[in-house]
Formats: sequence, C-alpha cells, structure tokens
Amino acid sequence: MRITFYGGAEEVGRSCVVLEDRRKRMMLDCGIKLGEELEFPLIDDNELKRINEIVISHAHLDHSGYVPHVYSKRARPKIYSTKPTRDLMGVLLADYNKIQTGKGRRFFGQKDVDDVMRDVNIVEYEDCVKTGSFPFTFYNAGHIMGSAMTLVKVNGGLLYTGDIAFRKTRILDGCKMNLKAETLLTETTYGKKEDVLPSLKEASSKLVKIINETLDKGGHVIIPSFAVGRAQEVLMALDDYMRSGALAPSKIFIEGMIGKTMRIYRHNAIYANDDIKKRILMSEDDPFKSPNFHYSRSKTKEDVLAEPSIIVSTSGMLSGGPVMFYLEKLGENPKNTLIFVGYQAEGTLGRRILEGQREITLGGKELKLKMRIERVKISGHADFSELLQFIRGVKGLKRVFLMHGEKSDLKDELEKKYEIVVPRLLETYGI
Ligand SMILES: [Zn+2]
Ligand SMILES: [Zn+2]
Repeated sequence: MRITFYGGAEEVGRSCVVLEDRRKRMMLDCGIKLGEELEFPLIDDNELKRINEIVISHAHLDHSGYVPHVYSKRARPKIYSTKPTRDLMGVLLADYNKIQTGKGRRFFGQKDVDDVMRDVNIVEYEDCVKTGSFPFTFYNAGHIMGSAMTLVKVNGGLLYTGDIAFRKTRILDGCKMNLKAETLLTETTYGKKEDVLPSLKEASSKLVKIINETLDKGGHVIIPSFAVGRAQEVLMALDDYMRSGALAPSKIFIEGMIGKTMRIYRHNAIYANDDIKKRILMSEDDPFKSPNFHYSRSKTKEDVLAEPSIIVSTSGMLSGGPVMFYLEKLGENPKNTLIFVGYQAEGTLGRRILEGQREITLGGKELKLKMRIERVKISGHADFSELLQFIRGVKGLKRVFLMHGEKSDLKDELEKKYEIVVPRLLETYGI
C-alpha cells in the first residue's frame, strides 16, 4: 500500500492523505489552508476522479474544505463522516463559499455544497464500514463534536487521528485510547516540548480573573474563536462560572456563525458527554440555551457596545468575521481586553498580535492597539506529553507519520522505539 501526502505535511492546514493499492484509492480528509492566502491540497484535478472514497475526520475546514471543490471538478467519490461532522460541515462550507464569493473568488457553488451534503454517508462511532476500497471504523477523537479517528483495516491497521484531544471537556469525552494499529498518522499541532497546556480548571480561572478585572473597569472583553469547538467550550465555561457567581454578571454576546453551530451542537447532544446529556434530558436546564447568552439585535451593534460585556466571535485567528468590527471599535481603548484562546497559525493577524505587533491596518485604517492582550490556552488538541502518551498507547505500533504540525520534538522522543517519518508534501511512502 502507498501513502501520499497532498497536504498537512510540515504544516497545519489542508490535511489530505491518499491511501492506495493497485486498484483502490481512499482519501483521508480533504481540507484547505486558511491563511492570508488560501492553499489547496496539491492534487491534480484528474487524480480526483480516481479517488473512490473520501473519509472526513471532522468539520473544520482544514479537514473538509476542499470537498466541494472536488465536486465542482465533477469527481464523485463516496463521502463518509459522522452526523455532527456532516451537519457542521454544511454550515462551515456555505460560509466559506459566501466569504470567497464576496472576495470575488468563486471556486464552487452552493449547489456543490448541497450535493456534498446530500451524498454524505453517515457513520456511527465504532461501526465497521465496508467500503468499495478499504474497510474502516471511526473512534471518538474528542476534538470537536463528531470528530473521529479513522482506523483503516489494512496491513495490521492504519490509524489516522485527524485532530485529537485527550481530556474530557465541558462538552466532550476525550479521545479513545489504546487502539491497535501498526501504522499511525498523527496530528502534531502541539508537538514541541514547550507545548504544555494548563488544566481546564487553571485555564478557566485565569479566564475568569481577566474578565472580572476588565468588566470591573467598565471594559469589554473580546474572545476571538473558531465557530466550532472552542467557542462552545468557552461559552459553557463562562456560563458555568457566571451561574456559580465566580464571574461577574454581564451579557455574553455570541457573534458570527457561533449561534448556528451552537444549535447544531444542541441537535447532536447525543454525541456530548454524559454530564451534558443528563442536564438536557433530566432537567429543564439546557446549557445551550442559557439566559446568559445574547445575540445582537442591532446592525451597528449598539446593544453590544452600550455596556461592559463579553463578546465571543469568529474568526478565531482574526482573519475576518465580526470580530474585526469589534477590534476596530474597541482596540484603541486600554479598558478593553482581547483574549486569545485558540491556536494562532503563522501568517495570521492573531499570531502577529500575539507576537507583539500593536500597529495594525483594518479595512485600510491604521489602528494602534492599546487594549490589554492576553492568552489563555483552552485547546482542542492534545499537548506534547499527551501526544506522547497517546502514541505510546497504540498497541502493536511499528511506524508513525508525524503530520498536521509545524516543527516538533516528537521524533527525538520516539525514534528509539518506532520508525518515525516526518512526511513532506507530495511524498509517497510504501508500507
Ligand atoms: Zn480541527
Ligand atoms: Zn486540524
């Protein structure tokens, strides 16, 4: 069997791996890379027509964003995902299409998105799926709702992690451990030794402290967040702390696509952990519909800006979305605070601000950021030591491909025990 990396090699973004033997081809993820420029998997359009199946690990666009492009090239591979992934993908792809069309870049149409949605084959966790090419099983990856690791039943087992998170969060259980596979393709977003994530409790209390200090001064808090995953976790945490009295009462405004994705989380609550399911099933206390959550009713956002409040808004890396409006309105006032909670990729405005840049240009306007800038790591990914623990837990493991990461220290840690490969773009490996 051959494995080719068309994306997601030595980078975070455009995850796209193809497994093939003489007759069959299965694509694991089909994502795009969202930076200043869009980047696509380096696969030829003609090659797309020869793909039998695409298996999507989760809805984030760096894993699913290229699927409608495939359709627009008239290729029709079979597509597999979990139900939450399908539902969330529908929202993210439609939004991506709208944004690109708005920028005068049209790669596919809404019809392609609709066709993809109609054609997705829904797979439940732990069911064995017999496809036309290689049989596979999904296991919970703990990263966002519906996220799945794919165990392909070939050559002693090939496990593709997609994105994984280790810890139980407010909404999800951690990823499934100790699976059996000879070959592992793992994400390495936090693959550096210094990538140590604080416990959820530590992170939350830091978050609460910063927010209280800001509200106390009469300021606003902006939390840029991805629409899917981090946003829901942060909102649940804020709601919990506000209910307990630890967090000062104020309105929590939900902006951008986060409202829509919250509804999808609610519809798919069966995929959440038992705590959430119990709250929904056994009480009137639906955490997704908390009275603390608010949606702006004004185009000019007067209701949000009128009094100190917390704004959770897309996009997570400050590459567009309503958060840009708030940054422009609130960025020059030292009373306000910007809190990064997620990963900031190289080349994004979020990363530059995090690295100390304070003079920025927004919509052609020069802006000097005087607001407080903070970082609270609430991650949807396993950190360095968790990745090691996960990898060492895989039974019968012989070789590991380290992907979906920029630079990592994992190779040094692991090469005594396993064959370690850091694949390059467009390289093919035989196993
Ligand atoms: Zn992801
Ligand atoms: Zn990813």
